[in-house]
Amino acid sequence: MRLVLLGPPGAGKGTLCTTLKKSFDLLHISTGDILREEMKQGTKIGLEIKELMDSGNLVRDELVSEIVRNRLTENDKEDKAFLLDGYPRTLSQAIDLDKILEELNTPLDLVLYLESSPALIIKRLTGRRVCKDCGAVYHITNRPPKVEGTCDYCGSHELIQRKDDTEETITHRMAVYLDTINPLMNYYDAQKKVRRVDSDRDPEYVQKDLFKFLDEKRTTDSD
Ligand SMILES: [Zn+2]
Repeated sequence: MRLVLLGPPGAGKGTLCTTLKKSFDLLHISTGDILREEMKQGTKIGLEIKELMDSGNLVRDELVSEIVRNRLTENDKEDKAFLLDGYPRTLSQAIDLDKILEELNTPLDLVLYLESSPALIIKRLTGRRVCKDCGAVYHITNRPPKVEGTCDYCGSHELIQRKDDTEETITHRMAVYLDTINPLMNYYDAQKKVRRVDSDRDPEYVQKDLFKFLDEKRTTDSD
């Protein structure tokens, strides 16, 4: 299965990626992780990315696409199965991706889209607290620490709210996200590859729907 998973920050992509990757034996390609790793290792691409970010610029589409191309070319999973996470982010990246996949003769099967209402995303993200010492993540209502204000793992009393987890920045991020995702969704809708999942529900239901879509796709393909 060759998949793209799309959804706004706070829609629960992280957990779902882990589950999908394990259950369907997929190569998980997270562009965010790769960019951080390239920078950490100080590769040629990593240095270029660091320079761009330090000067407050976005990483160019071509650069991200090159990274994805490298990973996909090295893919040794059966049927070249993969799960793209954090990419494509723009229409231009989606067009790049189709070119890459055409060269490799491994077309995309499905685009899974996690639909979420802004109000719920705001509630999820503003309630997030992070341990300043060990990085453990909590949520004031969904996943509170055992003892209020104390980290379960390291005992630190500094559970803080990230600067960009305020209602104002999240609202802005959502608006920017929806602006860029719409042309992307139109592009994939035209290819009839999109499956939408209501991710406002509990994660178990979201996961069930995703699995259903993947099973349906597998069944139709083997007919
Ligand atoms: Zn901690």
